[in-house]
Amino acid sequence: MLRKTVSLLCSLALFAWSSNVYSAQKSDQSREKVKAYFNRLAADARAHGAELRMFLNLMPKGGDLHQHFTGTTYAETYLDFVKKENCWISRKDFSVITPRDKEKLPDTLSVDKLRSDNKMLSEFYQVWSDKDFSNHYHDESAPDVQFFGTFANFSTILKYDGSLYTEGLKILKNRAKLENVQYIEQMFVSPGYKKKDATFDNQCRKSIANNNIPELQRTFQDFVTVVKADSLYQKAVPGYLKQVKSCADAVNDESFTLRFQSYVSRNDSPAEVFSSLYTAFCEADKSDLVVGVNIVNAENAPVAMSDYSLHMQMFRYMKELFPGVKTSMHAGELTIGMVRPEDLAWHITDAVMVAQANRIGHGVDIGYEVNALEVLSFMRDKKIAVEINLTSNEFILGVKDGEHPVRLYLDQGVPVVLTSDDEGVSRNNLTDDYVNLVQRYGITYEPLRAIVTNSIRYSFLNDKEKQVQLAKLDKRFTDFEARMAKMIGTTPRSGTGN
Ligand SMILES: [Zn+2]
Repeated sequence: MLRKTVSLLCSLALFAWSSNVYSAQKSDQSREKVKAYFNRLAADARAHGAELRMFLNLMPKGGDLHQHFTGTTYAETYLDFVKKENCWISRKDFSVITPRDKEKLPDTLSVDKLRSDNKMLSEFYQVWSDKDFSNHYHDESAPDVQFFGTFANFSTILKYDGSLYTEGLKILKNRAKLENVQYIEQMFVSPGYKKKDATFDNQCRKSIANNNIPELQRTFQDFVTVVKADSLYQKAVPGYLKQVKSCADAVNDESFTLRFQSYVSRNDSPAEVFSSLYTAFCEADKSDLVVGVNIVNAENAPVAMSDYSLHMQMFRYMKELFPGVKTSMHAGELTIGMVRPEDLAWHITDAVMVAQANRIGHGVDIGYEVNALEVLSFMRDKKIAVEINLTSNEFILGVKDGEHPVRLYLDQGVPVVLTSDDEGVSRNNLTDDYVNLVQRYGITYEPLRAIVTNSIRYSFLNDKEKQVQLAKLDKRFTDFEARMAKMIGTTPRSGTGN
């Protein structure tokens, strides 16, 4: 009897082992088939745009690590929000008018009225996004002014009814799932606190001009005491954490995970940047849902340019106060002609070496940096990923094709992730930038898979969460490759379609 049982168990184990070997072999075969198919498409990518798009749309894309909530929400959704809240659109400048702006009410129109007038609706989209920017003759702003100018429109309606944030996130989750994105790390809302202080501003600018860092740090330290004593600050952190928790609870499930980055604007005064940065770091330190801190807004604007060094010192100071908090920083979103050549020479260097960023966003001007070689090897060795935003860089900076440094980063072994930035303003999606990546840079299947995997590996999730997400991604790839292999096996490759 014992012999029989042992023999039965051995047979079952052998069956399980051979069945595992069989499925591993099958998935290897599928992967090889898909790889060969994809590399054929990529070799003649311009001629296979639609086929590539279908492939890349269905392909698992892991995470999107650089996404701004307000800029990702499409203008159509904002119009739905305006209508739902019984607000109006200004005839003068297409801004949102709420019932609180009584004096502006006579000059408004309803969303229904706007939607019934094609010409006016088209003009509205041109103000609220990059739509039709260059396909017809009209008075154009500079692309960076157009792009960053759209953001002024978004906050009125979102602030009018806070529940719209959750509604917007549900829409973004649905879009992510449609294009097989399982994780988003989003710049959602700013920390909810900032404080003006002209004395602090003057002291900081004086210390940085004299390169007196110890003095600067003493000024920072004193201001932390002031901020911490402010009752508005004390309310801001729990208020922010409550908001992100209720939003995350409304969208997170087995198939989709959302995390947040708190962020500050680089075009505020030094005291405002410092106080909101301190708040953002506290928020990230206190919550597993807030996984990092960022700095946003136009890098070429006068305040951002003149205070850049100061901001880097602020980040460095915060990193020492909160060593567990990760940072991703917009850095090097500049190009020749936009600022003076000498201003292109050091922003990425300082973001990674002074501010100690864990990732950088954009990194477009790396070719102009005087320490480019050291920075690239530093990023490679320290595993500092660069978030690449092809469509956004093409529109705002006019940098695309061979002028874009994505190839340089890849060739130098810097971890690259592909991200969407502001797909509502840009009117595209993440898949669209994957198509651009393959069409412009001839990326083949294995490096493409590595870029997708990086989007989880270099996220700010903790190690345990990363392992869970990586396992999910692996399973998604196995299913996707099996599905594609089946299609490849049944499709005639060279016929007329008859
Ligand atoms: Zn961005």
